[in-house]
Parts: sequence; C-alpha cells; structure tokens
Amino acid sequence: MQAYTYIEKGKFALLEKAKPTLIEPTDAIVKVTLGSICTSDLHIKHGSVPRAVPGITIGHEMVGIVEQVGSEVTAVKPGDRVTVNVETFCGECFYCKNGYVNNCTSPHGGWALGCRIDGGQTEYVRVPLANQGLNRIPEEVTDEQALFVGDVLATGFWAARITEITEDDTVLIIGAGPTGICTLICVMLRNPKRIIVCEKSEERREFVRKHYSSVLLTTPEECQEFVIKNSVNGGADRVLEVAGANDTFQLAWQCARPNAIITVVALYDEPQVLPLPQMYGKNLTFKTGGVDGCDCEKILQLIKEGKIDTTPLITHRFPLAKIAEAYELFEQKRDGVIKVAIYDNDYEKK
Ligand SMILES: [Zn+2]
Ligand SMILES: [Zn+2]
Repeated sequence: MQAYTYIEKGKFALLEKAKPTLIEPTDAIVKVTLGSICTSDLHIKHGSVPRAVPGITIGHEMVGIVEQVGSEVTAVKPGDRVTVNVETFCGECFYCKNGYVNNCTSPHGGWALGCRIDGGQTEYVRVPLANQGLNRIPEEVTDEQALFVGDVLATGFWAARITEITEDDTVLIIGAGPTGICTLICVMLRNPKRIIVCEKSEERREFVRKHYSSVLLTTPEECQEFVIKNSVNGGADRVLEVAGANDTFQLAWQCARPNAIITVVALYDEPQVLPLPQMYGKNLTFKTGGVDGCDCEKILQLIKEGKIDTTPLITHRFPLAKIAEAYELFEQKRDGVIKVAIYDNDYEKK
C-alpha cells in the first residue's frame, strides 16, 4: 500500500509499505477512506516535533472502515464506519477516568498515530487501544462530515467546553484557521451574546463573513479597541487564543475584562511571557493545554442532528497519489485553502 512517510527533517515521501497487522488484542485495523492534513503534520516536517519517529507514516486525521479487530476489542466490529481519535488513551488510569485523556499514563497514550507510530495518510492503519480510539459514525453522517471529529473539531469542542461560556458573554476568538473555525462553530452552540473573531488574513476573514454572518470581525491591529467598543464591561468575558502567533498571547489577555477566562488552545513555537505586574488586579483565569479528545461520540451526535457542520472547511480534495501537491497547497496557504481532504486513489474515477 502507499504510505506518506516522514523520511527526515524537511522530507516526506510516498512509499510502498506492507499492510499493517494486529499486534495487540486491543488493536484494530482500519481501511482509511478519507484523511486530512493538519498543521501538526507540518510541524513534524519542519523538525519541531522531537518525538516524531523517522520512517513512520504521517497523518492523524482520518475516518475509515474497520477491517479487523483484536480479541479484546468490543466497541467496534469489522464493517463499522469509524472516526479515529488523534489521541491514544486507555480509559482506565486516573487521568482517563477524569476525562483528562490527553494525560493518559499508558505507554501507548497521547499523540502516537502519525507521530510515534504509523498514521493515516495511507490505505490501512493500525489503531491501538481501539475501544477508546474509534467511534462509530452514525449512518446519516458522511465521511466528509465526520472527517475532523477526532482532531481539530475535538479541539474546538473541548476549548468551548472548558471556557465556561454563558449566554451573557462576549466571546473573543483569536485566529480563524481550521482550529479557530472549529472553535467558533462549537462556541456558537453555546449561544453567547456576541462573538468576535480576530484574524489577520483578509481571505480567512472573508471565509468567516461568508459562512458565519452573525460573527463580528476584526484584525489584530484593531482588536483591542474593537473589543472594548463591542463589549459591556470593558473587555471580552471569554477569550480563546487559537492563533499562536508572536503577539497573540499578549493580545488575548489585553482584550479580556477583569475576572475573564482565557483559554489558550494555540501551540507556540517559542516561550510566552506572563507579565504579572501589568496583569495584577485583572484577576484573570488562564486555561491551557492540549485537547482532551473524549467527546467524539457527543460531537458525532451533534453532526447527525445538524448542529455542527464542518464541511465548508474542506476547500480542496486530492487522491492519495497526489498528496505531495496537497501538502504544497496547504503549507503555502494558497488558493484560500482551509483544509484538504485526501481520498483513496479511486477518487478521480468516482
Ligand atoms: Zn492535528
Ligand atoms: Zn489512561
């Protein structure tokens, strides 16, 4: 089978590999029907994910059909359509039991697929701890509708959940990339009084304007003034920082009102400064970290009910054989790309 492989820093290549087989009784083999490219894949390419293992197949956003299961897998069976979770977690340790699956203490736990072990930009993938890592896709939900459930959409859903949003709130979201838009969709489900999106790219602001017309839009330069003008108590009640740019962490707390909650979803390239003297008296609450991807079943249900739709994010489609072209487009952010869908190689014939 073809597998898009991490060769070395700066180099991915489509190689011929053997189809994976079951190793542990908790494994499942999934035939990948649709995958995507995530910014984290680019981080691997650029050498900024030290734990990524050269030689592994890239990709941690995918849906597929269960082909084979180990003897201890009971949650899914061959033939089931499933979403694959970016996180591998045991479901049994202290962290898993409390919903903090990002901190699972299992040796397999955390971001393994497409980083430490073979991932999904290929035809078949072995999913460890499959009882936790796979969720069945309801019949009414298409592959494209379910594509982001295990990663960017799970992140947006988690971010909106931990931010404790009420219907009286003015919510500021910084960044309208794929994760920012997924966050926006999940924040909208909570019906806050007002949502402001700050995004530097005109193209991405236009995307938000077109698809989510109730949202107010601003730029990083005008953000603070705009937020103060459009909020009741001198700043945003809730801020979600999803941009991860040089100045966006500072922007996040500066735009928050006293006693606000600020959720930092972004992953920064460099350490950030927490200027406590300037913040003193603002009494802010910060929440930070990586997604606890344990709400996938709930998210699939919301998609089925028509309450979440991430299909507008799929701006481009490629067959696996042309995945290098897809990467080039995604990496250069050309042609208004938000997300690409990678189909199996029969796609062009369909
Ligand atoms: Zn990702
Ligand atoms: Zn665990």
